[in-house]
Amino acid sequence: MTIMEKLYMLTKMTWKEVEERLKESDTVLVPIGSMEQHGPALPLDNDHFIARRFAEKVVERLWETIKLVVAPTISIGYSEHHMDFKGTITLRESTLVDVIVDVCRSLAAHGFRRIVLINGHGGNQSAIRNALNLFREGMESQVFAINWWDMAKDKIREVGSRPFFHACDNETSVAWYLGQRVLADKRVDEPGRKIVPGYIEPDMAGDAFTVSGVYSMKDITDSGVVGYSTKATEEKGKQIVDVAVERMVDFILRILEM
Ligand SMILES: [Zn+2]
Repeated sequence: MTIMEKLYMLTKMTWKEVEERLKESDTVLVPIGSMEQHGPALPLDNDHFIARRFAEKVVERLWETIKLVVAPTISIGYSEHHMDFKGTITLRESTLVDVIVDVCRSLAAHGFRRIVLINGHGGNQSAIRNALNLFREGMESQVFAINWWDMAKDKIREVGSRPFFHACDNETSVAWYLGQRVLADKRVDEPGRKIVPGYIEPDMAGDAFTVSGVYSMKDITDSGVVGYSTKATEEKGKQIVDVAVERMVDFILRILEM
């Protein structure tokens, strides 16, 4: 049975089918990403495309054990820092918090007791944390949030090049393996400028003592890439995705026991 033959997308189900599914499974995945520039080689949908594909991989892996549902992707995130690049669309952070809370409240109201956000965009993390705090008040359901890169940190350090930041080797490899449109001959290498060396540096796997600040991606990169995207390969992407999916699956199996 291929992923396309499985009834897992909430958008394709009737309300009666949702009612039936809830009798055997009360766990739902909510992909969340962004609509933002990813350099000259990757399209604007990259982060929400990746998030949805990870959700599908998890559904496929677990189908014989539990029939998970995937909610519609929250496709626009917080990308204010990318607004100097054409095509980017951002929500204000407060709007994104409201969207996440409202989606989760709706799912919880129908009886989904375990809601797992699969996040594809680093810039959403603060809104997600805020939304989880707000959601906590008075709801029976539990909400969890997973960043795909956190599930494969070790593999990223092992196979990927640094910096690990944006439209880089790692992100391009993952996108490529997951079936994204990659303009391979447009890939560029740009390590990115450090805002405050040692403290604010564009490398999510780096050694800097992290300090927050307000900056535009234009301050860091001219192409929109921070990293070495010419080093990206589908094979590298497969290794990172496989590890991340296995950990997501393991996490979901653990919360099912709770
Ligand atoms: Zn991205």
